[in-house]
Amino acid sequence: MLIAGNWKMFKGPQETRAFVDSFQPPEGVEVVLCPPFVSLEAALTGPHTIYAQNVHWEGSGAYTGEISPEMLLELGVQGALVGHSERRQLFGETDEMVARRTRSALESGLGVIACAGETLEQRESGDTELVLKIQVEAIAFAAGEYEKLVIAYEPVWAIGTGKTATPEQAEEAHRFIKGLTDRPVLYGGSVKPENAAELLDQPSIDGALVGGASLDPDSFAAICRAASPS
Ligand code: PEP
Repeated sequence: MLIAGNWKMFKGPQETRAFVDSFQPPEGVEVVLCPPFVSLEAALTGPHTIYAQNVHWEGSGAYTGEISPEMLLELGVQGALVGHSERRQLFGETDEMVARRTRSALESGLGVIACAGETLEQRESGDTELVLKIQVEAIAFAAGEYEKLVIAYEPVWAIGTGKTATPEQAEEAHRFIKGLTDRPVLYGGSVKPENAAELLDQPSIDGALVGGASLDPDSFAAICRAASPS
C-alpha cells in the first residue's frame, strides 16, 4: 500500500520540520509526502520519501515559475505529482502537458503519481469512463515502459469537499482504470481516518492520495495505520 500526502499550498519550512519531527507512520506502509517546493528541503531532513507537487518537462530554460526534474533530483526529491485536478482546473493544465511532465520526470528517474478524475458534471452526464479513458491513456502512453508510475483516481467532486466516493463507486472506477493500464491506482478525495479502512479494503484500491487530512501528523498516521498489514 502507498499512502501519499498532498499538502497543497500549506506549510512553509518551519511547519514542515515540526511535522516531520512528530509524524510516526507504521511499518509496512509506503509513505510519500508532497510539500510545497519551498519546503522540500526541510521535508528531506526526515526519513520519509518526498515528492514535489509538480515538475516541468524541460531540464532548464526560460520557464518562469517552473522547476525541472534535474533540480528536484539534485535536492534529493524522489518524485512528483502531476496532473492534479487543481492544476488542471485552476492553471489550465492539459492532457498534453500532463503527459509531457510524466514522460520527462520518469525519463530522469523520478517517480510519478499522475492524477485523473471526472468532475460532478461529467459524472452526472454519464461521461466518467470517457474522461478517465482520455486522461489515463494520455498518461500511460507517455509513460511507456517506465516503471515508476502510479495513477491516482481523484473524482474532482470529492476533493476538498468532504464528499467521498463510496467504496463501491471508487472500486468501480479503479477497476475501469486497471482495464486501461496495469499500474497501481490510489484513491483520492476526502480520505480521512474515519473512512480510510473501508476504501483501502476494496480489492482494486492500492493506496490513497490524501489532501486535507495529511496536514496533521496524527490524522495522517491514522490513515497510514488503516493501510497497515498488521
Ligand atoms: C488532494 O489534494 O489530492 C485531495 C484528495 O484532497 P482532499 O483529501 O482534501 O480531498
